[in-house]
This record gives sequence, C-alpha cells and structure tokens, in this order.
Amino acid sequence: MDRQGKILAVIVVVVLAVAGFVIYNNHHQTGNHITYSQTAEYAYVASSERDIYHRPTCRWAQKISAANLVGYNTREEAEKSGRRPCKVCKP
Ligand SMILES: [Zn+2]
Repeated sequence: MDRQGKILAVIVVVVLAVAGFVIYNNHHQTGNHITYSQTAEYAYVASSERDIYHRPTCRWAQKISAANLVGYNTREEAEKSGRRPCKVCKP
C-alpha cells in the first residue's frame, strides 16, 4: 500500500468510527434533547441521566440540568425509553 493508500485507509477507519459512535448514541438516546424554552411544547420531560419522567411544571423537572433535558410528546414515548412516572407530579 502506498502512502496515499494508507492515508485513505486511516480516513475510512476514522469515518467508520465516527459513524458507529453516532449510531450508538442515537440508539441510546432516550428522548428529544430540548431546551427549557421548549418544555411547553412537550407533554413530558425527563433528564437523560435519570429514569423518571415528569410534567414540565414539576418542581423536580425544573431541577433537570439544561444539558440533560429531554422531551416526550406522549406517555408511551416516555415509558418506551424505560422511564417511570414521577411520584410527585404523577404524569
Ligand atoms: Zn415530577
């Protein structure tokens, strides 16, 4: 393999690694990442790091770090992500 071939091989490996990483993350993404201003558009919110979902008005929902905030339109969506309803806001 010549020098160009080696560089090409490295590029292919890097691209495949990045693609694999993106697919892996999408697979593990458990909701639509949203910002606090978008919470009104979603029926339920959760933290990507916790296994509980809330009504956006819940005091615990307000404590979710903006970086971890995810939104769901339906209960099914939230439940499918493996989350259970909050005992405080009972979504
Ligand atoms: Zn709650």
